[in-house]
Amino acid sequence: MAIDSIKVSLREKGVRLTRQRQILLELIDQTGQHLDAERLFQLAKEKDPKLNRVTVYRTLKMLKAGGMVDELDLMHHEGDQHYYETRLKQEHAHVICLRCGKVEEFFGEPLQRLRKQIESHFGFQILLARTEVGGYCAHCQSLRALELERARQHGLADAVLASGVAPGPGAPHRPRAKRTA
Ligand SMILES: [Zn+2]
Ligand SMILES: [Zn+2]
Repeated sequence: MAIDSIKVSLREKGVRLTRQRQILLELIDQTGQHLDAERLFQLAKEKDPKLNRVTVYRTLKMLKAGGMVDELDLMHHEGDQHYYETRLKQEHAHVICLRCGKVEEFFGEPLQRLRKQIESHFGFQILLARTEVGGYCAHCQSLRALELERARQHGLADAVLASGVAPGPGAPHRPRAKRTA
């Protein structure tokens, strides 16, 4: 079990794995998701009703400082929250949909290659690398296309109402601002 290797490394560092720490580590490890502190607190409370928010936040800080978990901001797609995952996973990039918030993980050799290229280019020793990619997932792309289409039709309907004439084939097109987002 992956969590066991964390326990061993904690013991080597002389850090006691308290019940609270263990609960949090296991939650982060088992869900395999990227949960924020508040969600982790809710889940941890189900396991131990005596746990309070301060303890959870403090424990997360300690796990982070000890290199047991990674703290991610995931492009701040939902504000200022941070998300946590254990350091046990192989290096991966996070691919975040800025519309629905879905987070995908990209594992692969290109990441290791990039790391090596950066190290040799700058003569740099990388200790930590974090790759985040933001954009729209396939589902949101089609939703956005629909929304844009609807907005376009709506815009046209407004023009029709304003002029009082139906736009024929020769009707002037309203200039449209280029969308960047
Ligand atoms: Zn999406
Ligand atoms: Zn991840």
